[in-house]
Amino acid sequence: MPRPIAATIHTAALHHNLERVRQAAPDAKVWAVVKANAYGHGIERAYEGLRGADGFALLDLAEAERVRHLGWRGPILLLEGVFEPRDLELCSRLGLWHAVHCDEQIDMLAAHKTQVPHRVFLKMNSGMNRLGFTPQRFRAAWARLNALPQVDEISFMTHFSDADGPRGVAHQLAVFNTAAQDLPGERTLSNSAATLRHAADARVRADWVRAGIALYGSAPDYPEHTATHWGMRPTMTLATRLIATQQLQAGDTVGYGSRFTAEGPLLIGVAACGYADGYPRHCDTGTPVLVNGIRTRLVGRVSMDMITVDLTPLQQAGVAAGFGAEVTLWGQASNGTVLGVDEVAAAAGTVSWELLTALAQRVPVSVDGNA
Ligand SMILES: *Cc1c(COP(=O)(O)O)cnc(C)c1O
Repeated sequence: MPRPIAATIHTAALHHNLERVRQAAPDAKVWAVVKANAYGHGIERAYEGLRGADGFALLDLAEAERVRHLGWRGPILLLEGVFEPRDLELCSRLGLWHAVHCDEQIDMLAAHKTQVPHRVFLKMNSGMNRLGFTPQRFRAAWARLNALPQVDEISFMTHFSDADGPRGVAHQLAVFNTAAQDLPGERTLSNSAATLRHAADARVRADWVRAGIALYGSAPDYPEHTATHWGMRPTMTLATRLIATQQLQAGDTVGYGSRFTAEGPLLIGVAACGYADGYPRHCDTGTPVLVNGIRTRLVGRVSMDMITVDLTPLQQAGVAAGFGAEVTLWGQASNGTVLGVDEVAAAAGTVSWELLTALAQRVPVSVDGNA
């Protein structure tokens, strides 16, 4: 028998979250962002739940090929554009739309031989200072693109650095709108945080929103808001089982470095999940975990293949928890109790994006049609 750990992808929850994004930006089209193998869910496994989107946005050309291979005929956008000239051939062949964020990408387009002009998204650096033309250089880039026979429609994009926090989007929105003002074409500005928090402003939702983490059931602005607050449902459950229990006495310690010491008699369970499964090693005593759907806490250090959990709340509830008991690391337990991946990420000092995308290869993943 394989180790009992497994992840489950919830198709109905993906579908539900997509609808929630649509409600947040009613008149905008939605890019389902499926980079990083659909945030660790697997593009093929997430596809059924997300195929109601207006397009798929990603970074990797091989992932774009996989989306086409699934039968998707609609828009696919390469969020970072092409990396070398021959990528443009694949764009022509697969009908991929691509971001243009630097002069080198315009040079490549200018040298590209194609019968099919490309739809491009000219990207502005409106303050994030990663990709894009500065506002001062934006019009010149547009004029160059506009003159190329290789280019069909030109759309516009930028990316917000603080949509999830107090600084907000207004400063970048102003920069973008000033520099792109009368240029004709569609616009896409918002990630999940901007879509959920700022899309009441029509200029923020624009023509397309680019939703990633919200589709995968996380709150982009946790802990200010939770996924439940935003009406999002978990799309991935990571679950395993207890493979042992230990009865501790006062003074007994647990695990590497003896990081946890029992103050009195304490029953703990050993679960088959460790950092080699993608469970963060930075989680410490107190990190929430569900055993048989009852909320309890991690005790001691996360090992490569195991974690240890406090079984006191199960004893108090009169629930048996021995060998084989269900352990939910994040997602939904069999009894319906939900443990948000955001909470676990916060306990590890990171964000849900990292946990979902770090699910390890060795964890078997299946798809569940019900949420
Ligand atoms: C990843 C990404 C998104 C999606 O971000 P979320 O915060 O996950 O919604 C949107 N736009 C771009 C350019 C991205 O790279």
